[in-house]
Amino acid sequence: MNITFENKRVLVTGAGKGIGYDIAKAFVKCGAEKVFALSKTKANLDKLAAESPLIVPVCVDLGDWNAARKAVESLGPIDVLINNAAVAECDSFFDVKPESIDRVFNINVKSVINVSQVVAAGMVQRKTGGAIVNISSQAAQAALADHVVYGATKAAVDSITRCMALELGEHNIRVNSVNPTVVWTEMGAKHWSDEKRSKPMLEKIPLHKFAAIEDVVHAVLFLASNKAAMVNAVTLPVDGGFLAC
Ligand code: NDP
Repeated sequence: MNITFENKRVLVTGAGKGIGYDIAKAFVKCGAEKVFALSKTKANLDKLAAESPLIVPVCVDLGDWNAARKAVESLGPIDVLINNAAVAECDSFFDVKPESIDRVFNINVKSVINVSQVVAAGMVQRKTGGAIVNISSQAAQAALADHVVYGATKAAVDSITRCMALELGEHNIRVNSVNPTVVWTEMGAKHWSDEKRSKPMLEKIPLHKFAAIEDVVHAVLFLASNKAAMVNAVTLPVDGGFLAC
């Protein structure tokens, strides 16, 4: 299957490292006209942009609603949006602090709506349609210890995916989510490098392995491409079967 994004302008949030970094590079490889890589830390974005002249860094804190909105508005037309940026703060239920709830919801939920509003409004106005892929998590649909806040934000992302798909479908804008299991990035390693946590999780995953970054990237490329033209409002697990078993 040949997936191409020729003539497409793509925005990937959280592209400074981890999964988003590789998603941005993959869109370039698949022929995208331009890839906007949005993230908070300039040094990370500079490293990514140095790898490809087609990648345009956008350095902004998604936690700042107005600044993020202005930055995304300034990019011009976007055909494909990948809402990948997120933060994880993992505390047990009784240890959760209100500031942590606000911080995590602000990035993982509020900023997804903010960026998507700007991008989707442009798609509607230009009558071009488009594709939006939200990076959710297995934690949206399964109870994981110390994931009460993070899991709630990802459950919200799944709901946002379905509601956006419902409201934007008439404009030929598809909205889907990818829900990975543990991926060995900075975020993944922070929580799961403790064997007391990772061992039982690996035992519960039927394939007995975590997801590679590439596994997530491939699912994103498919859902964002016209090969998935009839796929809409799904939350696609990339979890080795964890959620189903
Ligand atoms: P990383 O922590 O490795 O990377 C997150 C990226 O998001 C970084 O580039 C970071 O910016 C950016 N980001 C965070 N906060 C902001 C902000 N306020 N403004 C702008 N950019 C911001 O995470 P992963 O690559 O592991 O995660 C990517 C996605 O996958 C997330 O949605 C995550 O929830 C999801 N996921 C991850 C799993 C895992 O095990 N890793 C499992 C399931 C889902 P900066 O470069 O400045 O740090």
